[in-house]
Amino acid sequence: MTELEQKTQEQQEIIVPGLAKLLADDWQQELESRHGELVALLATLTASLLPQGWRKASPAQRAAFLDEHRAGVKRILAPMFEGIVPAAEKAVEQLHGFMGNHYGITPPAPFSGSTWAKSTLIAEHSPQEWAAKQADTVSERIVRASRSRLDEDTLPRNSKLVKDAIAASEEGINLMAQAFIVSGVDAARQSLFPGFAWKYRAKMDGYTCGTCEATHGQIFQDNQPRPSLPRHPRCRCAYVPVPVV
Ligand SMILES: [Zn+2]
Repeated sequence: MTELEQKTQEQQEIIVPGLAKLLADDWQQELESRHGELVALLATLTASLLPQGWRKASPAQRAAFLDEHRAGVKRILAPMFEGIVPAAEKAVEQLHGFMGNHYGITPPAPFSGSTWAKSTLIAEHSPQEWAAKQADTVSERIVRASRSRLDEDTLPRNSKLVKDAIAASEEGINLMAQAFIVSGVDAARQSLFPGFAWKYRAKMDGYTCGTCEATHGQIFQDNQPRPSLPRHPRCRCAYVPVPVV
């Protein structure tokens, strides 16, 4: 194994998952910190729009309630989801500096996290679109969880339902953070080694998927099209820089 491969492996197996977890934990914590506000919203809207409870409400009342609730949840969560891409940009910029040190090289050019976020597509979606999609998923989960028990409605129960919906969002948030960091690390690494060729390195163990395994070891010239990373959720692949001789 070359030194570049060794270092790349260390980054990929230790730094990448660690940083992704750190980001995801931050986002999840921020979500949890909105719990009280979300419960208060539900209580207010139930009292004002469903005075006789969900079952006795007309279809129009139910629809109005759900619209208001969905809009309110999105409003409460918006600042958190708007902060996601900027936080990822900053993390990727820091990683770029760290990786340069770790490889023992001086970065040939500065690296901009926002350029990365604007130019990358992860499974055909920009990070902005990912964050927006995640915001919709989480909001919808909270709306659905609350609606399911509206007639037995008590404050402690609603509080618990909202809490469970927030907890159920953790996996999606983790996957988003992982995807962002894997993509960002790849962009940062490319900017550290301009003109190098790239050797595809899959993490080979019992969990490696067939697609990634089939590409393992393949070398791509710098100007040659190559699969972009991550290739799928939880992808642990990386491109190892290979000097062109
Ligand atoms: Zn992979």
